[in-house]
Amino acid sequence: MSAREVDRFETVIGLEVHAQLLTRSKMYCGCSAEYTGAPPNTAICPVCLGLPGALPVLNQAAVQSALLTGLALNSEVPAYNKLDRKNYVYPDLPKGYQISQYDLPLCVGGRLTFESEGVPRTVGITRVHVEEDTGRLVHRQGEQGEEISLVDLNRSGVPLMEIVGEPDLRSPEEARDYLIALRQILRYIGASTGNMEEGAFRCDANISTRATDGSLVGAKVEVKNMNSFRAVERALRYEEQRQREVLATGGTIPQETRGWVEDRGVTVSQRTKEQAHDYRYFPEPDLPPLAVTDEMVEPLRRGLPELPLARRDRFVEAFGLPPEDAALLTGEREIADLFEQVVGANPGTAAARRAANWIVNDLMGLQRQRGLPPETLPLSAVQVRDLIDAVEAGEITGRAAKELLPQIGSHELPRDAAARLNLLSLNDADTVRAAVDETLAAFPEAVADYRGGKKAAIGRLIGETIKRTGGRARPDEVRARLEQVLAEA
Ligand SMILES: [Zn+2]
Repeated sequence: MSAREVDRFETVIGLEVHAQLLTRSKMYCGCSAEYTGAPPNTAICPVCLGLPGALPVLNQAAVQSALLTGLALNSEVPAYNKLDRKNYVYPDLPKGYQISQYDLPLCVGGRLTFESEGVPRTVGITRVHVEEDTGRLVHRQGEQGEEISLVDLNRSGVPLMEIVGEPDLRSPEEARDYLIALRQILRYIGASTGNMEEGAFRCDANISTRATDGSLVGAKVEVKNMNSFRAVERALRYEEQRQREVLATGGTIPQETRGWVEDRGVTVSQRTKEQAHDYRYFPEPDLPPLAVTDEMVEPLRRGLPELPLARRDRFVEAFGLPPEDAALLTGEREIADLFEQVVGANPGTAAARRAANWIVNDLMGLQRQRGLPPETLPLSAVQVRDLIDAVEAGEITGRAAKELLPQIGSHELPRDAAARLNLLSLNDADTVRAAVDETLAAFPEAVADYRGGKKAAIGRLIGETIKRTGGRARPDEVRARLEQVLAEA
């Protein structure tokens, strides 16, 4: 087959996300689901070890969280769903099967609307179902340098949900933005921490390439082993390029599974269609089918919070915030809540923008510096309000407030901290006068410039005077005093 001229290629991407449900116990037993940091094989019992005769019990909280996710994604909740055994052999799977859902999942259909590069996009949701996690293999070198593999079953039976999206995504960037939006929603509704580094949010991608004129079509390739949003984007970009080159030079794309190799920046073939598993699904005989009633669903529907995108739009509309600030404020539910507590119901645009500035620039900056979790700001709503009020009232200058911010104690009001650190505004005309006199003596050229008609030179003199008061003099007072003295001589 010879190389062909193709006008344009199109990329088709569908994502499958596995999210760990935020519950106290595992999916089918009472073991703790909080396994990180526990010594290997300590959070286990006969059920999650798959010992003969041990019987599973369905975790109600996990089902509720997955239902809530379905509702947030506009899914249908069928009146009846069931659990199935997915059979395969692997050392991290003690039962020899995983209890999952096959043909009758918990939630069916739905859609997720998000923005990618400022453009609204909607992606269909195929299904949301519950299942359990496997154990973990740890590979290391033994004392004689031999390769050994250890099995840790703490994760075995931890509740997962799988969210399968329709192949509606058209670029790696869109795939990344879809994942970010989905993760935000899961965090908003408390269904999952969405922590990718800890494996609480994992993504597999299906990607295929076709010529827009229909002349060339590649098979669907599944990409695995992507452990961050950036890895997803990079892996898909690599794969998009690889598939286009193969097709454009007359090759074919076989249906296969490929793994992303982070440090080499490539995908490599793991298995082809011929080696694909036949999981021999059959209904789980130890768990009854699950009837989902209106009594179960309606309280969840009523409890659904306002979701990030809607909240961002409301912040723009109701408070007059710039969209970028509104997006930053609504990225985490706790921070959006804090903002609303600070500004109250009807703040007016100026006050809302002021509060948004403090939170987005100063508090989030400090949050990053301190390595705090994304939902935790260094100050409470009461503290933020006190700080803003004090600055507005002139009790603390803007400059002193920036110096004060990192030194405020965890339960301390900013005004108290300013008093403790001697950062309250100067209410002492003599000190301001003395600082003005010193400044005028120290910067004769600026004084000459000002008197010679370069009125802008006063800016330098104001700044130098404030510096001499340790940032505590109020700029309006300093300016008035300077103008007075400069007019005198
Ligand atoms: Zn257990």
